[in-house]
This record gives sequence, structure tokens and C-alpha cells, in this order.
Amino acid sequence: MIDKIKTLPAISLTAGLLFACGATHTGQSGNSNVHFGNDSIPFNPIIRDKFTADPAALVHGDTVYLYTGHDEAPKGQSRYVMHDWLCYSSVDMMNWKEHKSPLSVKDFAWVKDDAWASQVTYRDNKFYWYVAVTHSTVPGKAIGVAVSDYPAGPFKDALGKALITNDMTTDAKISWDDIDPSVIIADDGQAYLFWGNTKCYYAKLKNNMIELDGPINTIDLPHFTEAPWVHKRKGWYYLSYAYQFPEKIAYAMSRNINGPWEYKGIINEIAGNSNTNHQSIIEFKGNSYFIYHNGALADAGGFHRSVCIEYLHYNKDGTISPIIMTSKGVRTQK
Ligand code: CA
Repeated sequence: MIDKIKTLPAISLTAGLLFACGATHTGQSGNSNVHFGNDSIPFNPIIRDKFTADPAALVHGDTVYLYTGHDEAPKGQSRYVMHDWLCYSSVDMMNWKEHKSPLSVKDFAWVKDDAWASQVTYRDNKFYWYVAVTHSTVPGKAIGVAVSDYPAGPFKDALGKALITNDMTTDAKISWDDIDPSVIIADDGQAYLFWGNTKCYYAKLKNNMIELDGPINTIDLPHFTEAPWVHKRKGWYYLSYAYQFPEKIAYAMSRNINGPWEYKGIINEIAGNSNTNHQSIIEFKGNSYFIYHNGALADAGGFHRSVCIEYLHYNKDGTISPIIMTSKGVRTQK
């Protein structure tokens, strides 16, 4: 799979979407005069003119908004160079529209750099974007929050300072444990922020979504590395996360957002040519989706990543069937 994709020439996003649509969906794309064989170009990765990482999807109305990081390291350099976040939207998970970058590290006066993983949520007619960054004065990583009236922004710093700084958590003796925010609003309206690296932290958020509302707690999960993502379905809370390193994706389930969490196993294996994996799980128009990143484009790798999408299937008992990563992705209905 990887070798095949690496031989492909770089193509623009628009062209990529046309390819991705395939002959069976050219009508939906509005480019019915363009036909490609279904297997000529893989659907995954879905974005081919930029390197995109750390996907976080938000379903709002009849649209999915996909927020990603943006790998910009010069070719051949194995380091994270990430200065802004990107935003795409789709009404069918197959055709994706790129929006102008709605948020940059420069939008936070207290941020040094490093637009790392993030997630957007919606509450009371506003969109809140939780981001991991490097703090300019408090040593280590930090989590900030931006706000907008619109899902594609523009967003502005909602707080004027960090929501979480490295010194607020000391369970992990590293400077990068306060990353990878994931936010969920429980059925009773209480919002929770989850985050962490090597330790999984969580805390309540006040209704204003920009202040903690209680102590920071930890959750013990087998081989937790980073990238917690919390979602709910049919009375179950799911806490998926990056497991070991290079990363697989594992998950735990609980009837209660405060646990106890029961470990349920691996749902995604190591992503091709990438030591990170970083899942986002959503329900949209009757299907469930698993969104992650790999290093499948030409000249790609763990610092030049690309977002991919697969269907996710639940078993009758609520457990998740392992994801099978493919080039075909969700190009055609399952
Ligand atoms: Ca810390």
C-alpha cells in the first residue's frame, strides 16, 4: 500500500478529491466530465496538497468539520514544524472543502509555537477549539482555547492565557505531558477536558468552557501514550488513545464518564510510515467513522503525515471491531 502510494505524483487537493470521488461519485462532485477508475488513485490519504496530522472531527448539523494540524518541516527533516491548524468540511465524508486556516499559534499572545493536536466542540452557539502548544514563559507544553461564532472561524484566543500549563500536572515528570486535549459534554451538560502524554488527565470544565471546574484527575490505562479521544454512543462512554510507541490505538469503555474504565483492546494497528496515529471517532448520517493519520504520501513519514478515514463498526455488545486500514477508505458505501 505504501509503496504504491509513494509512486503517485503530487496532486492538488481539488484533483485529489476528484480522484477520490471515483466514477461512481462524479455526479456528487459536480465534475461529471471527469472519470477515473475506482482503483486508479486511493481515497486515503484524503488530502494530498498539504501534510495534515492529528485529525479532530466535529459533526455540526448536516456537515462534518475536520480540524487538523499542519506538518511543514522541510523535506527530509525529522522534526515537527507546525505553526497553524487547518479546517476542512464535508457533507458526505468523501468530498472535502478546504477553508482558510482559522487558527494559528500567532493568535495566542502567550504561545511560543507548535500547533499540536486539538479538538473543537460546540456549546451555546459558540465553537471552542482546544489546542496543544508550547508556552512562551511557563516551561513545557500547554493547552489553550480559542472561540468563534462559526465552525470555520476565524477563531480568537478565548482566555488570553493558557487553560492548562505544565506545572499544573506533575504525575508525569516530563515537559510535554499536557498535550492532546479532547473535550466532551456529558448528558447532564457537564463538560470534561481530557488530555495527556504518558499520563491521562481529565477535569471538569465550567459552563463557560474556558475554566476548570474542579481538580485534575488521572486515569490508569494500559500503555497510555497520548491522544485521548472521548465519545459516547448508546449509553457507553469510549476513551480511545494512542497505545505504546510507535502507536497503536486502544480503547476503554465505561457507563460513567468518571469511570471506572474497562480496557477493551486494540482497534487500530501502527499506521503506515508514521510512529503516531491519532484517532478521531464520530457518528455521521448513520455511519461511524475512524479518522487517523499515516505517512503514506510521497516524501512522507512521521513528521509529514496525512489524514485518512475508515468506517468504524460496533459489535452488538458495544465493543469496537478492529479497524482495517485501506487505500479505498470510505470512497464507496460499505
Ligand atoms: Ca505537566
